[in-house]
Amino acid sequence: MRRITDKVYAEIYFWGCNPGFVSTTDGVFMIDTPQQPINAVQWRERLLEYGPIRHLVNTEPHPDHIRGNAYFPGVEVIGQERMVARYEQALPMMTGDQTLETMKTSDPDSVWLFNHPDYPPNPPTRTFSDQLTLQLGEKSIQLLHHPGHTPPQTSVFLPREGVVFTGDNVFFKCKTFVQEADPWEWLTALDAIRALDVETIVPGHGEPCEKSYLAQQAQIIQNWIGVVEDYVRRGLSEDEAVAQPLDVVKDVDPYPIGQRLFPRSDWVTEANIRNVYKRVVARSTVKV
Ligand SMILES: [Zn+2]
Repeated sequence: MRRITDKVYAEIYFWGCNPGFVSTTDGVFMIDTPQQPINAVQWRERLLEYGPIRHLVNTEPHPDHIRGNAYFPGVEVIGQERMVARYEQALPMMTGDQTLETMKTSDPDSVWLFNHPDYPPNPPTRTFSDQLTLQLGEKSIQLLHHPGHTPPQTSVFLPREGVVFTGDNVFFKCKTFVQEADPWEWLTALDAIRALDVETIVPGHGEPCEKSYLAQQAQIIQNWIGVVEDYVRRGLSEDEAVAQPLDVVKDVDPYPIGQRLFPRSDWVTEANIRNVYKRVVARSTVKV
């Protein structure tokens, strides 16, 4: 577990996202949950050493950030208002037989906890639209809606500590997932994060970093827009765009896919192209 600054922590090495927490005089505030059930119960026991867990915020609706919610029964979950429907939609993927079958070989230690009756789904029940400021003990915690990587994307800003948890609006030196993002919105979100008075960014994946990395993250998003605009300009259909040589991708995003996802790398590339293609055409940034 990494100490980010006084009483602010994150885990960088779980299989899944980087969950974090803030320890306060009135208990613990959590940011996202470990993806793997065995990590989630271990994380809970660790956090309880710092006090009762008061709140949990999900930064986005992808399973690597929300699947572990179930292992924090009774903890109030907070999310941007668009999170509620997305949590429901994700449930079949998170609790289905296919996930269980995969887990039997990929993470057998988690199997006994999967769909365990003590750990029912734990959706967001407290929502906000643009932002929500919470005071917990001596800590002020700001939840900021920064749509980008996903529509409900939320940053957790700790003004006094100079730290922001961005979720997957920042992938630090690992492959950027643009499979559902509005890339232009994402660039706006990166500008909003840059405007915060922070020293440290805790990304959704990868090591904590400084603001200087935001320019590189923005460049990767710009590169995806640029390469797909070029495909559209050349008159390629979406399927033809996907069939283009993948070596171009190394110039778009130079980083390898994160943690245990190597077999999915080409799938992510295809999903990125398909999403950005549809959005470039819809936005008519290029005339077909
Ligand atoms: Zn993620």
